[in-house]
Formats: sequence, C-alpha cells, structure tokens
Amino acid sequence: MRPDDILPRPPHVPPLPTQPHTPPLQLTSVWECDSPAQADAMLGKSIPGYVYQRDGHPNGDTLAELCRQLHGAEQAALANSGMAAISAVLLATLKAGDHVVVSRRIYGKTMVLFQQEGARLGIETTAVDTCDLNAVAAAMEKNTRLVVAETIANPLLEVADIRALGKIAHFHQALLLVDNTFATPIVCRPLALGADLVMESLTKMMNGHSDVILGAIAGTTAAMQRIPAVLSTWGLASHPFDCWLATRGLATLAVRMERACKNAQIAAEFLQQQSAVKNVFYPGLKSANDRDLAVRQFTRDQFGYMVTFELAGGRAAADAFIASAQQIPFCPSLGSIGTSLSHPETTSHRGLTEEERLALGITGGTIRLSVGIESPEFLQEALAAALQVL
Ligand SMILES: *Cc1c(COP(=O)(O)O)cnc(C)c1O
Repeated sequence: MRPDDILPRPPHVPPLPTQPHTPPLQLTSVWECDSPAQADAMLGKSIPGYVYQRDGHPNGDTLAELCRQLHGAEQAALANSGMAAISAVLLATLKAGDHVVVSRRIYGKTMVLFQQEGARLGIETTAVDTCDLNAVAAAMEKNTRLVVAETIANPLLEVADIRALGKIAHFHQALLLVDNTFATPIVCRPLALGADLVMESLTKMMNGHSDVILGAIAGTTAAMQRIPAVLSTWGLASHPFDCWLATRGLATLAVRMERACKNAQIAAEFLQQQSAVKNVFYPGLKSANDRDLAVRQFTRDQFGYMVTFELAGGRAAADAFIASAQQIPFCPSLGSIGTSLSHPETTSHRGLTEEERLALGITGGTIRLSVGIESPEFLQEALAAALQVL
C-alpha cells in the first residue's frame, strides 16, 4: 500500500468474541452508514443508531442513562457544562413574552442567564426568596412558565421546599427546574418530590475529580421534549472524553458522598465550637432552621458536602484564615476529592453590591468549604491549624 493511503478504513478491527469490560472511549465525530435509507431512519429516530456526534454518541448515552437512573427520570440528556444544561432548559421551554421566577440565591451565572440573556430574548425574570413560599406564589404571573430553585442554595445552604414549589408552579401551569448540584441524587432526588426537571453540574461532585466541565438535565418526557433538539441545534452537546471521565467518576459517587457528608457534619460541629467562628451554616446541624425540611427531603441521613461559616473578625480574619490554611486550597469551585475553600465576597458573589451581599447573609468573613473525602482527623487538624492565627 502507498504510504499516502494508510488511512483507518473499515473494517478497523475484526469482530471478536469478547467485548471490552469497561465502556471504550469513542472519539469519532461521525459514523459510517450502510445506506441512505438507514441514515434517513437513524436521523429521523425511527431506528436507533449514531450518525453525527453532536446528535448523540455512545459515551454520552452511557452517562446519561446512569444519570437518568440515579434521578428516577423518564429521560436524561447531557450538555457540555452545567450552564449549557440550564441554557438548554431556557431555550427549550421558554419563548418571548414568557416569565420566569428564579430564586434570588441562585448560582450567579444562572441569574445572569435568565435576567440578562433572557431579557434580550424577550423573557422576563423575577427573582424572589424561594424559601418564602408566599413570595413565590405572589411572584407568579399568567405567563410564568418556569420556576427555578436550588436544592441547597449557595453559599448559606438554605434548603428549598421542592414539594411546595412544585405545587405552586403546577398550579400556574409552569414547570419547576431544580439545580441539584450541591446535593447530588445521593442526597436528594427532586423529581420524586414533584420537580419536572433536575439539573446537575457534573463538573462538581458527580464527576468529583475537578477535571471535567459537564452538565446533565433529567426529567419527565413532557418537560424534556425539546431538549435533545435544542442541545444539537444550539451546539450545547457533550464531548465523549468528558463523558468517559465522568462515567468513571460517577461510579464512586455514593462512597465519596458517604465520606464527604460525614466529614461535612463533623466539620460543621467542630466549627460551631470555635470562638473565632460567629455562624455555621449546614442543614445537618441540630440548630439549623431548615433541618426538619432537610430530613424530610434528603435521603441516607446525608446533608451535603458543603459547609459555610462566618468568621467573627470579618474580611481581615478571612484573609488570615485563607493564608494560613495550608492544607485547604482556595479554589472557587466545589465537589472535588480533596477539601477546598472559597470566599464568596471576592469570587462567586463579587458581581453583587455589598448591600445585595449582606441581604443574602454574605460578609467579608464568610468562607465556604467544599468538604472532601480525606480522613475526618485530617480535616479537623487542617481547620484547627488555620484557625490558630485568629
Ligand atoms: C458550577 C455550578 C453551575 C454551573 O455549572 P458549570 O458546569 O460550571 O457550567 C450551576 N449551578 C451550580 C449550583 C453550580 O455550582
């Protein structure tokens, strides 16, 4: 054969009697079709099969099916980030003239998506305190089509009453979308509580290793109806390598969550006893306002892997704590295998005015911990060492 013609042409591998035990990474952008009739049928979804990666690929389907099962959903799909998953919901369920009610504590980029990008598309958004059910009911309009809340909100970890929010949304013929990133399906399954759609940033605990950006969206067949077409048309589809990595990460989600939630409970109780700490926010604390709601909605006696606390000494104390926390890196993300911390005032909530931050309970002394799977002893020692400078 001429060297110029050494291309990978079929058959690539002879058919063999054994199958790979783990899902192979399939990096092809396109599949070879037998005939125009077969291509036509696959693209029309009348027979299963892959044609073009943006419309679906094996590594994505493997991971989406796992997400579907974890959430007990009728359907699930993947997007190339958590934000792409939320964008797909916006584009699939809303049109000009529609109205959305979002939690005023929603993830910053989600707020920008609905308020700024939505406004450009003629979609109006009202931000309310979704912990105040009367305020949510009062914000509902005739044209409200979507309500958006987070199971556990950032950064003070308030718990949303998903059942009640679902009832309010459905009374007004709107859908309820729940961002479950801080809980994961191990702690909470919003669809079982009445949500129509649940979104996960797989970037966080679901993949769990801080090496992938990916999102999932799952829900009822009715609510998911336009999602696959939107993902393909707006170019929001997932990449096989990210899906392959996240499938591997997801396999250990339950054991990682078991350790991380246990550690988070221990860390929260430890921080509560420290004189330099003014407030500790964690739904698993006996003193937490929404502990009863958390117990009702959460499974396995787990309350999540995020713990937030406020240092009595304000920003100066936060600067000193972060500088001395040698074992706890300052990473403005969450859900990795190791414990990390973030400072909401200067990262996730820097776009707000000081007044807006104070209204959400965020001060310069607020520190958000993403608790990892180290030993509880390591974590307590690391926190104690960092607190020593205060
Ligand atoms: C990170 C995050 C997102 C966005 O997910 P990306 O994968 O970063 O796009 C949305 N909601 C919450 C609660 C998050 O933590």
